[in-house]
Amino acid sequence: MKKIAFSVAITALFIISCKNKMQDVENQQPTANRPEYALAIHGGAGALRRAAMSPEKEVEYRAALDSALNIGENILRNGGSALDAVEQTIVFLENSPLFNAGRGAVFTHDGKNELDASIMDGATQNAGAIGGVTTVKNPIRLARAVMEQSPHVFLSGRGAEQFAAERSLELVDPAWFYTEERWEVLQKLLREEKEKTGKQGHLKLSQHRPSEPTADEKFGTVGCVALDKNGHLAAGTSTGGMTNKRWNRIGDAPVIGAGTYASDDACAVSCTGHGEFFIRYAVAHDVWALMAYKGLALAEAADFVVNKKLVEKGGEGGLIAVDKDGNIAMPFNSEGMYRGFAKPGARGVAIYKE
Ligand code: ASP
Repeated sequence: MKKIAFSVAITALFIISCKNKMQDVENQQPTANRPEYALAIHGGAGALRRAAMSPEKEVEYRAALDSALNIGENILRNGGSALDAVEQTIVFLENSPLFNAGRGAVFTHDGKNELDASIMDGATQNAGAIGGVTTVKNPIRLARAVMEQSPHVFLSGRGAEQFAAERSLELVDPAWFYTEERWEVLQKLLREEKEKTGKQGHLKLSQHRPSEPTADEKFGTVGCVALDKNGHLAAGTSTGGMTNKRWNRIGDAPVIGAGTYASDDACAVSCTGHGEFFIRYAVAHDVWALMAYKGLALAEAADFVVNKKLVEKGGEGGLIAVDKDGNIAMPFNSEGMYRGFAKPGARGVAIYKE
């Protein structure tokens, strides 16, 4: 009898301890060093040159970044998931005409808006991405649907749009993405191309120099990284790509490991800049790898990749990242990068090196 009671007690203790361990894993309590939550956003490394930024425009950009932070922070403060915070914050940025994503996206050579986006869940390392869609109002929503409701990671073009329609995501007339400012930039680039070549659209490869046109005319993207109360990380990125892109070019934003990466064991990263370089050097994954394999701190890893490796290779841009302890890094090697961060008791938005 005593023997039976003893083994029941041992089994009960075993079950309780397993349950506690599961709960610990699923619901890690903030450590002394870890804030309850942490959030960072970017609105692209293609910030207007300081000389071209009027005080009114600057106020507008800062207010939009602040509103975006509010959305993510409210979700995280109330115990919502990092994934929800990333998705909702990016939806807001996509709907703003100020940034090169969703409404306000840059134009392709043929005068269209082709949108790319991706999202990654650091807890499961599931990811979803879409490239070259033209009628999906919020590409980040579609990326999440690909992650959660399809067996695939990356869909593109017509198939991605068909999938969006089947999942009842909001579709819009392509005119929704039109903004006069972005249209004018395309016209200017086309005129310059014509002057150089005498024939529109036939620039030699050697004439495509990354510094021409200026970053503020070409780049832009939005992104968000978050750490939630349960210790989970997520990252997302959404963009119209680069002005005057051709041939259904797809940039780094939807390429997992290049523009976006998240893993609970180290960090979540979202990039912005000249996408070809970010793809070649697997930038987002590189930050993670330096932390995971080399034991670098987030700030060191992010700074090395953006300010040393990319600079040496000629890749202009930046990134935002948050690590599992809630540290945030936002390095960039361009003149500016629209960005912001929020943690309990600390918050800020910035555009240039300030
Ligand atoms: N990385 C994006 C692309 O190359 C553009 C950007 O972030 O500014 O498509």
